[in-house]
Amino acid sequence: IEELLRRSEKLTTVGQLAAGVAHEIRNPLTTLRGFLQLQQEKKVLVPLHIDLMLSELDRINLIVSEFLILAKPQAVHFQQRDLRHIVGDVVSLLDSQAHLFGIEFATHFSGVPAMVHCEENQLKQVFINVIKNAIEAMPDGGTITLEQHQQDDSVVIVITDEGGGVPEDMLPKLGEPFFTNKESGTGLGLMVSQRIIQAHKGSLEISSEYGRGAQVIIKLPEAKESDPPAGMNIERSEDKHE
Ligand code: ADP
Ligand code: MG
Repeated sequence: IEELLRRSEKLTTVGQLAAGVAHEIRNPLTTLRGFLQLQQEKKVLVPLHIDLMLSELDRINLIVSEFLILAKPQAVHFQQRDLRHIVGDVVSLLDSQAHLFGIEFATHFSGVPAMVHCEENQLKQVFINVIKNAIEAMPDGGTITLEQHQQDDSVVIVITDEGGGVPEDMLPKLGEPFFTNKESGTGLGLMVSQRIIQAHKGSLEISSEYGRGAQVIIKLPEAKESDPPAGMNIERSEDKHE
């Protein structure tokens, strides 16, 4: 039943989002159509126009792929994993990109396993989204700090950056679909991340003092011995379709 509820909640969200995605995609499509029509009637396209068309196409592609993370029926395969390893993997993945911008990671993990019951790839996606935002907020370099501790029955990860932070009036808008202040942003990353964390019965909060960086706090319930062991979830055959 829980799974059914989770699925129907997911469907509603996806439905609402689909309307937004359609809207966001219509703008670049209109631009593309305009250029092509111009070319058909007057043969006036120059390389600059082609560049614009390509970046509009890239934008459509980005919006669609971020949306698919939510909408694509994925094999739901919850397993017990050590959150420190998941975060560690993502840090290694993004390390070389961060170095290009003069950014270093500082990790402070506790010495004991931080087991959570999770869909590993989805959680990785969350940390990728959050850390990418931190990198994008620090064009002049600095340190991204990742700290992990236990709190009651939760595992907590705190990600702190040294970027420009978020103006106070913008804070409530973070996580709204399509809210972005980046030229090539989609405004989907935080919303997708919040959805994934909610599906894991956790929470994701952002705090920031404008001009002094931002902090993302992710809490997930600690897996208990009594939770179903890894591999006990039966994959539904319909989930295997693309
Ligand atoms: P996108 O990155 O495509 O803009 P997100 O949903 O990931 O979309 O983020 C939405 C907005 O939240 C960003 O455009 C940015 O304004 C703000 N934001 C998110 N993380 C940070 C951060 N670490 N520092 C400053 N602003 C941030
Ligand atoms: Mg982002």
